[in-house]
Amino acid sequence: HKLLKPPHVAIVPTPGIGHLTPLIELAKRLVVHHNFSITFIIPNDGSLLTPQKKVLEVLSSLSISYVFLPPVSFDDLPDDTMIETKISLTLTRSLLALRDSVRVLNELTRLVSLIVDVFGVDAFDVAVEFQVSPYMFFLNSAMGLLLVFHMPHLHETTSCEYRDMPEPVQLPGCVPLHGRDFTDPLQDRTNPGYKAVIHMCKKYGSAAGIMVNSFVDLEPGAFKALREQGRGIPPVYPVGPVIKTDSIDGIDGDECLRWLDKQPNGSVLFVSFGSGGTFSQEQLNELALGLELSGNRFIWVVKSPNETVKNGSYFSVKGEENPLGFLPNGFLERTKDVGLVVPTWAPQVEVLNHRSTGGFLTHCGWNSILESIVHGVPLIAWPLYAEQKMNKVILVDGLKVALGVKENKKGIVESQDVANYVRDLIEGDEGKLLREKMKEYKEAAKLVLAETGSSTKSLAEVAQIWKGFNSTTNL
Ligand code: UDP
Repeated sequence: HKLLKPPHVAIVPTPGIGHLTPLIELAKRLVVHHNFSITFIIPNDGSLLTPQKKVLEVLSSLSISYVFLPPVSFDDLPDDTMIETKISLTLTRSLLALRDSVRVLNELTRLVSLIVDVFGVDAFDVAVEFQVSPYMFFLNSAMGLLLVFHMPHLHETTSCEYRDMPEPVQLPGCVPLHGRDFTDPLQDRTNPGYKAVIHMCKKYGSAAGIMVNSFVDLEPGAFKALREQGRGIPPVYPVGPVIKTDSIDGIDGDECLRWLDKQPNGSVLFVSFGSGGTFSQEQLNELALGLELSGNRFIWVVKSPNETVKNGSYFSVKGEENPLGFLPNGFLERTKDVGLVVPTWAPQVEVLNHRSTGGFLTHCGWNSILESIVHGVPLIAWPLYAEQKMNKVILVDGLKVALGVKENKKGIVESQDVANYVRDLIEGDEGKLLREKMKEYKEAAKLVLAETGSSTKSLAEVAQIWKGFNSTTNL
């Protein structure tokens, strides 16, 4: 009978490589260390299916299976619909199909938990309907989670746009955060995306538990506050850093690694802006000229420019036209002895793990940050979209592991500044301090994931709850 079967967990990722990757890594840990079997149930809009399938196929040997829900359509949405709105609509438009999948899974397996990511709260109702415990894997910082619980209050008590608030928000145990550094959908109260985010924030409290992809030593104040805030905040489990250990996405990145093999230790700046990050042509030029001006070695993952949004490749990631054609005239030729330009995608984890990599110019995606911490690589923080401005504040003011870029009045980071950041990070005294600090976090990250480390124990605690699952006491 069902009770004799191994406990089963359903994972519902919302679109984005940055969501799927850590959920897969979490799934692997649950299978390998805690004997769960797992099914990914994947809402989607029809894009990105092939790379996702490739990644998931590799996992079938590990009792991890997957099902794609029927693709939803965005044909009715205006062109300027925010990416966050699309992400949450992908889920809400899939709820009926999700319900069917969970019903079947619940009949066939001993389903003990349904895990969603940051945008997945609307799936909680489906879990509850089948008496399955609704959990979240929060894929950002503990500070970000505190802000989620603070937002409904801020929404009620302020009426101006948050960027116009004169004082920063002081979340307990955290560095001060200005409203202008809140995530994009919170920047315009009239945008439908705003309402959706406030709705989501309110629903976080109905999780049975929230695992966070961070660790106690990285954000001690924020985790303490999450524990002490009590009412309305479900149990919080710091289980990170949960990062990709290799590039299982099958994309050939050997060229980067072969090139790195030939460079001196710690000499190369890795430049990459996540799965979605894009620039205007003007900004692309400034960045290129800045890298050239620095004279430093670099690997730059380039994407084609986009004049309207900074996350132009989020839903397409790799399928764009050749970006090299957009670089300044003669740039490739002039930098060929010191730089490697890679179109659209590189094996980031392997690059960060390479002895030649001495710094990372990053868009501050949370996965990129954790990957840098695990490999001890100091940063230049250049946030573009989503919650990345807040992450920059954490990196620069809180952890002191990054130089933060400054934009001019037109919102452009100028080439001369880029060159200075690069030199300061790779060769300068400030870079040295940031590197040392990063090494400390690297060591701490190693310890929390050791057998008796705090993150290992936290995940074990969650696993125990699920194994002793009893629907009347846990819901
Ligand atoms: N990534 C990669 N190669 C690239 C760009 C990104 O392997 O050229 C990976 C990166 O290692 C990370 C993820 O894609 O695991 C991006 O997640 P992140 O949270 O940093 O940013 P997002 O893409 O979600 O904005």
